[in-house]
Amino acid sequence: MFGFLRSWKRRRLAKREPSPALAPLIDQHFPFAGQLDAAERARFLTHLHVFFLEKRFEGAGGLELTDEMKVVVAGSAARLARNLSLDVYDDLVTVVLYPAAWKNPRGEGVHLGEAHQWGLVVLAWDAVRHGLYNPADGHDTALHEFAHVLDLGDGRFDGTPELNAWADYHAWTRVFSRHYEQLRARPHRSQVLRAYGATNEAEFFAVATEAFFEKPARLKEKAPELYEELRRYYRLDPVRNE
Ligand SMILES: [Zn+2]
Repeated sequence: MFGFLRSWKRRRLAKREPSPALAPLIDQHFPFAGQLDAAERARFLTHLHVFFLEKRFEGAGGLELTDEMKVVVAGSAARLARNLSLDVYDDLVTVVLYPAAWKNPRGEGVHLGEAHQWGLVVLAWDAVRHGLYNPADGHDTALHEFAHVLDLGDGRFDGTPELNAWADYHAWTRVFSRHYEQLRARPHRSQVLRAYGATNEAEFFAVATEAFFEKPARLKEKAPELYEELRRYYRLDPVRNE
């Protein structure tokens, strides 16, 4: 879609109030939003609403989609991006939900989530629910996959999303490289990052994002520089307001 047409449509979407039927679902699944100041809560709701209305949701493996599922997925995306530009998910077109972990047709193991370069995210609904109801275990499949989508925003799946300023890249690269190498050297020794983050730089960013939202105090204590880079990128401070 042409950029101007999309932004015109989006401005209209953003102005529409979310359906009153969605409000209890949002409050139920994202209690942190009740703690945000009014401006940040409004940005969260706008992100959620635009995602909910713009993305194509598809059920797979016999899953019947409900508004609750769509709210949970859209809210997870909005939780990450609430202080970022509304266009950060522009390249994402479709979200496919399976009921549970699925085997892909090539038979390469089972999957809880996947983010693809061609505008597709695939999620296992039970993993998304598990992530939401275990908010402090450092594992959240939806946050993980949407971090990959943000990473892909600059066209590369390399663990560095498009940062807010050119000046930010130097510190980001230095800090992320150092912590990634530390995790690679001792993947099971980290007290805050999942060992899966040692797979490659892209997985490291997604795993660090999960820790940033789910174990912020511990990440800040154990890896303050990493916390600071993520705080600067996401423009939020979960130790204070999540
Ligand atoms: Zn991943």
